[in-house]
Amino acid sequence: MHDLSITRRSLLCGSAALTATAIMRTGIVGSAAARAPLTGTQAPSFYRFRIGAIEATVVSDGPIGPMGEPSSAFAGVPGAEIGKMLSDNFLPTDNLVMEQNVLVANTGDRLVLFDTGMGATKMFGPTTGRLLQNLQAAGIAASDIDAVVLTHAHPDHCWGLTSEDGKPAFPNAQIYMTQADFDFWTDEAKLAQDAMRPMIEGARRNLTPNRPRITFVRDGQELLPGIQALAAPGHTVGHTSYLITSQGQTLCFAGDVAHHHVLSVERPRIRFVFDTDAEQAVSTRLRIFDMLAAQRLQLLSYHFPWPGIGHVAKHGDGFRYIPSPMRTTL
Ligand SMILES: [Zn+2]
Repeated sequence: MHDLSITRRSLLCGSAALTATAIMRTGIVGSAAARAPLTGTQAPSFYRFRIGAIEATVVSDGPIGPMGEPSSAFAGVPGAEIGKMLSDNFLPTDNLVMEQNVLVANTGDRLVLFDTGMGATKMFGPTTGRLLQNLQAAGIAASDIDAVVLTHAHPDHCWGLTSEDGKPAFPNAQIYMTQADFDFWTDEAKLAQDAMRPMIEGARRNLTPNRPRITFVRDGQELLPGIQALAAPGHTVGHTSYLITSQGQTLCFAGDVAHHHVLSVERPRIRFVFDTDAEQAVSTRLRIFDMLAAQRLQLLSYHFPWPGIGHVAKHGDGFRYIPSPMRTTL
């Protein structure tokens, strides 16, 4: 039986000794003599992978937040339990991190964007609105996008339809979404409700002028070759996931079926406070995760840790999220 504490101590002593030797040899101490300044920036956020013959690229719009105290976003479970689950997974307990993983699928004859990020508004924090620059870094021109497919009409999913100057950000794209979400979020009558007004105003700014370019999708419909709508209501009235299939491989662009890779997966019955109908969202989450687990289908979850691609497997009365290994070759 090894005594790990002794092993670790001797390792530390060893590395300290090495450092001391290095210092004596070079005469360099500390970072003042570093030859390059700190960059202070992250690498461009795009990640490419294949779904059969489809070339898929996850492109980030930047994380939402800071979201603050994680337990404030979840209901039906004591805050201390949320804190323990996060801490057991080596995650911060004082802030909820939610990425925005947008997907571009190049099917060979169409370039399809799934969700659009926040656009220019900073309503959900200062680090959003990076989609266009990350698309450019990925070598994808916004004007080449043929179709924009929306999971739902929340700010972080459809407000990127309009550029800062008020022009369409994807001028050559047909837009696909459910009529239920269009009607709900562009409803003028809801402008009278203070809590709803900012969301309705933003949806109206992004969706109403684009109405002639919008095609409404139905559950089960193959809206584009290899792309099928899968009704997933609850988070919003018309929230929809999409199954993208090529050569026998399928990816589920899940949207907001789940908001956290630990909390909403291991405890899928925990309610998310920003759901329109949280109970319905729970049963949708259970149904879709059951299907993904049984069929071993890969999912891309919009708010999961970058790039949000992985699988869910049954585990107890919940699930487990297993991120797919990121590959350095295509
Ligand atoms: Zn969202």
